[in-house]
Amino acid sequence: MKKYNVEIIEKGIVIGPAFKLNKTDKPIHKFQGIEKELKTLDKAVNITQSKLKHLYDSMLKDSKDLEAEIVQTHILMAEDPTFIDAIKSKICKTKISAYEAVNIVCDEFVTIFKNMDDGYLSQRANDIYEISSQMKSNIVNQKQVMPKEPSIIITDLLTCNDILAFEKNDVLGFVSSKGFSLSHASILARKNQIPTVCGIENIMDLVKNGDTIIISQNELIINPDEETIEEMKIKQIELENFKLELKKNKGLKTQTTDGREIQVLANISSSADLEESIENNCQGVGLFRTEFFFMDKITPPTEEQQYQIYKSVLEKLNGKEVTIRTIDIGSDKPIEYVDYKEENNPALGKRGVRVYLDYMDLFKTQLKALLRASCHGNLRIMYPMIISVKEVKFIYKQIDIVAKELEKEGKAYEIPPQGIMIETPAASLISDELAPLVDFFSIGTNDLTQYTLACDRENHNVVLELDTRHNSILKQIKICVENAHKNGISCSICGELASDESLTEVLLDMGVDKLSVSPNRILNMVTKIREI
Ligand code: PEP
Ligand code: MG
Repeated sequence: MKKYNVEIIEKGIVIGPAFKLNKTDKPIHKFQGIEKELKTLDKAVNITQSKLKHLYDSMLKDSKDLEAEIVQTHILMAEDPTFIDAIKSKICKTKISAYEAVNIVCDEFVTIFKNMDDGYLSQRANDIYEISSQMKSNIVNQKQVMPKEPSIIITDLLTCNDILAFEKNDVLGFVSSKGFSLSHASILARKNQIPTVCGIENIMDLVKNGDTIIISQNELIINPDEETIEEMKIKQIELENFKLELKKNKGLKTQTTDGREIQVLANISSSADLEESIENNCQGVGLFRTEFFFMDKITPPTEEQQYQIYKSVLEKLNGKEVTIRTIDIGSDKPIEYVDYKEENNPALGKRGVRVYLDYMDLFKTQLKALLRASCHGNLRIMYPMIISVKEVKFIYKQIDIVAKELEKEGKAYEIPPQGIMIETPAASLISDELAPLVDFFSIGTNDLTQYTLACDRENHNVVLELDTRHNSILKQIKICVENAHKNGISCSICGELASDESLTEVLLDMGVDKLSVSPNRILNMVTKIREI
């Protein structure tokens, strides 16, 4: 029996046989002349593109908009002339097979991406691996062999296509060597709620097909003894029972024992999140992170595309409150068509509302789509990274301008309630000045903690200092709630602190009106509130 600590992508406890995906095995594919290799490459590229396009269409058909966006990124990469030409030139210059050329060029591109300082871009190395691996499979015409029984899939690199291919089969879990929590494959694993872990470099050497594997939260066990298996089975039952208990509270009033009602809302950034939130009977959406629809693209979504997305979310929520945040780009969430000047501290640089000044078209297009969508449900617009009254006034001016433009264009619109995120100490300290101007506050404790404690939330070196329950954060929450209530507006929390059950009672005591949490935390919060 061997135990390893792993990084969790999606939590869970599973026990099952290992099934190794040997994608990296080198098939026999010898060089057959430049002409022939170029032809083989062209064919493989075409097959890869058409398979991806097919996948994209089927996702759109299933209204999986965000997942479709992921596939679209891969289509763009599979068509990228820089990438394809580099492979062709490798074949011609070094007289190697198409398969070898894809391998080498993939490694070169991955090195370039990985060396990028920017966390988000460096993670795109995974996409290159993924596309290359699909091309290689198509060169050798490899078919994915499926496991014969429910299994834990072991792989060097987990790709979106692996997850999609296995979705309908009985997969218990995924274990991969490489993996990043921000990667697209990780997003899909979470969406499908398949327990997934990563971080063991030589996992393919450590495991044999058929070995018994246990994934238990952040622990991976290979060939456990009987006693451990029995222990895990008990833990599994406990976890299942706990989930069943939580489900009993689905749809019940989120009311404390003394009768105070607290709204439990959802934080979403994909259609899967939305489905899960509705399934868990959320009372609305407290934070829709729209920037994910703008990332991984070479041009921004149009007004019409955005309008359709927002409208569909509002209609699906059927009159429940939906708070849509305008794009919070910059820092760890860059987008290709915004030219960020080099910054020493991007988290303290151009992000959130600060980008809008330089990219008015981007901002105004989103506002127009939001105002139009507002006719279809209970919308509230929220603005990120506010530090001043001046910024709020600037935004209102833009609202006036776009409303006039919509009027002229003859498009129906409504101006919904508008609020701000309190996620900087500046905003919390002047919350008395901001409250009279806006319709609501929502406290973004993730950034509020980063900026109050002067700890970069992406920097592992300060992970111990990043104390999310620091008294300075709780004091600011109290100030904001008081100032909100004095001005007759509500104050919610949409940062991760909202789902910290050890603080729920403290937050309710302070008067926090609403808690917005990840879709899979909704039932935990409903249960917790009902116990208070
Ligand atoms: C926050 O900062 O708490 C927040 C909810 O916004 P994000 O995590 O998207 O920065
Ligand atoms: Mg934030």
